[in-house]
Amino acid sequence: MSEKISLEVDGQLKEFEIKREGKMKILELPVKIEVKKGSFLHIGTAPSPLTEKKGAIFKVDRTPVIPATSFKGALRHQLELLFIEKAEEFAQLFNIPDDKKELLKPCIPSPRPTKAEEELIRMGKYRKHCEIKVDDRQISVGNLGICPVCYFMGTTGLMGFLRVSNFYPEREGGVIDQTNIRIDRKTGTAAHGAKVEGEQVKPGTVFNGTISIVFSEPILEMQGIQFGDAREIGDKVIDKWLSYWSEKDKTKRVKILIEKVLLPAIQNIKVLGGQKSRGAGKVDVKVE
Ligand SMILES: [Zn+2]
Repeated sequence: MSEKISLEVDGQLKEFEIKREGKMKILELPVKIEVKKGSFLHIGTAPSPLTEKKGAIFKVDRTPVIPATSFKGALRHQLELLFIEKAEEFAQLFNIPDDKKELLKPCIPSPRPTKAEEELIRMGKYRKHCEIKVDDRQISVGNLGICPVCYFMGTTGLMGFLRVSNFYPEREGGVIDQTNIRIDRKTGTAAHGAKVEGEQVKPGTVFNGTISIVFSEPILEMQGIQFGDAREIGDKVIDKWLSYWSEKDKTKRVKILIEKVLLPAIQNIKVLGGQKSRGAGKVDVKVE
């Protein structure tokens, strides 16, 4: 017994299976990341006292890997930008009343924002970090509830609906170990102390991984809640941004959240990893 859902990906209708994984129902989106021609990828590891190598890239069993955390950071950022850019469109789509548009603002996901992040909050682009507090049977989530980005990605004390895997290269090879010598702009010779050891993933390298959407898990199921619905704890609505939506068809809600929010955010990821100032990290991301 398997359920299927058809989604429009890159202008084409494709069928995806909703699988049971233990007590959860999951929709898995296969994702392909290609390092662009003329660029390279560098996702570093923290230098360890045991390895002398500087500029090593993240690897599992000697294979370069794009760690889930790295991809998640990029996806969160693209979701934030999407909710800022499409604030008006989404307010209409989700039937948000005019005086409640703040519900769609993404949060700065840290209780201690930097100066630059504080500025973004002051400018009205972002809200303060989402927080769910549970003490002595009291639950508080603030006036705005949890932001739409944390709905997907999760926040402290509350899981999001997305799971991201690590990304592994399609075939072996693809790493170049290159010593970069910075040229002194004035003398045209190697600048003193500018010798940098660095590993890079070659352009054209393709990585595969998955983004899974958790449709339901036992506790939500007991409440009759699934991905696309606003969650409730006690009698408190957590995901207030979804509570005005007039679309009652659960499958349509799922389709809209994936096609209008998740897929565009995934496809908008254009850079990953470090050394961006050197032109690194340009990628194409596709859902297959
Ligand atoms: Zn948030």
